[in-house]
Amino acid sequence: MARWAIAMARWAIAIHGGAGVDPNLPEHRQEEAKRVLARCLQVGVDLLRAGAAALDVVEAVVRELETDPCFNSGRGSALTRAGTVEMEASIMDGRGRRCGAVSGVSTVKNPVSLARRVMDKSPHSYLAFGGAEDFAREQGLEVVDNNYFITEENVGMLKLAKEANTILFDYRIPLAGADTCSALAAAVESHGSNKMVMNGLPISIYAPETVGCAVVDSNGFTAAATSTGGLMNKMTGRIGDSPLIGAGTYACGHCAVSCTGEGEAIIRSTLARDVAAVMEYKGLPLQEAVDFCVKERLDEGFAGLIAVSGTGEVAYGFNCTGMFRACATEDGFMEVGIWE
Ligand code: ASP
Repeated sequence: MARWAIAMARWAIAIHGGAGVDPNLPEHRQEEAKRVLARCLQVGVDLLRAGAAALDVVEAVVRELETDPCFNSGRGSALTRAGTVEMEASIMDGRGRRCGAVSGVSTVKNPVSLARRVMDKSPHSYLAFGGAEDFAREQGLEVVDNNYFITEENVGMLKLAKEANTILFDYRIPLAGADTCSALAAAVESHGSNKMVMNGLPISIYAPETVGCAVVDSNGFTAAATSTGGLMNKMTGRIGDSPLIGAGTYACGHCAVSCTGEGEAIIRSTLARDVAAVMEYKGLPLQEAVDFCVKERLDEGFAGLIAVSGTGEVAYGFNCTGMFRACATEDGFMEVGIWE
């Protein structure tokens, strides 16, 4: 089980860019992902140093991650079977446990900000599809054509996924010069994933690279946010864990958590809330609570999470090949990593 150094500090931030990394991911793609993570982490660190509130920091950092096409959220989102983008996001304020979430968003440039508006400006916690889109316009959020979110690389990977008749696919496996069927066969082979099942159905490889951020600010208030395009070649209308409070995202006085990986497994595990519950009811410190939940609650899952505690610890855990992640604490600890 992976571990970050425990640092008792006032503020702390952890971010992720998805769990379940292709072990053969080319070096230059690893470096690119780490560069984006480091840049987005720095946005959060600068805000925290300036005394920003946790809620503002998680929103700002996730907006950066959504805007960069490197990860599966906002621009660069995974595509549905129909070749469209249906994004999801959620945000939670540990102070008062307020929350907002959206699903089926197809034109809103930064879904995390729409989730925040749902929390702050609507009487509800969760809006989806047409209603979420209408609310974004009412609120004057920036909207763009659905094509803005669709990258050439993702169009290619959707084609591969369809040819292989697989509902899910790791869209980062390089296309250059590859024969589609052999590329897919190699991908399946390299992950040994032909033995994987999801909800009892055989699947190939799930698409990683959802983004998330968990923060405790210098006042000890926590917040978490998660944003995703979901799974490559997903059914239209499919909703994963990322917008579900308690599954993909949770924040309270004990901790803030953002999860990533196979959404169906995370939903079954109520993973984010369980980390908080284990801290609250079992009295475990953050990293032990994370380890416990990944080991005992994440059944058959290929997933992971990042977390911060209300007292400034950072932690992560995953049960798959890797997780794009980064963290920083007020006492100067900083790390960007992918593998164990
Ligand atoms: N959890 C996301 C989903 O199932 C995918 C991911 O984390 O990459 O939609």
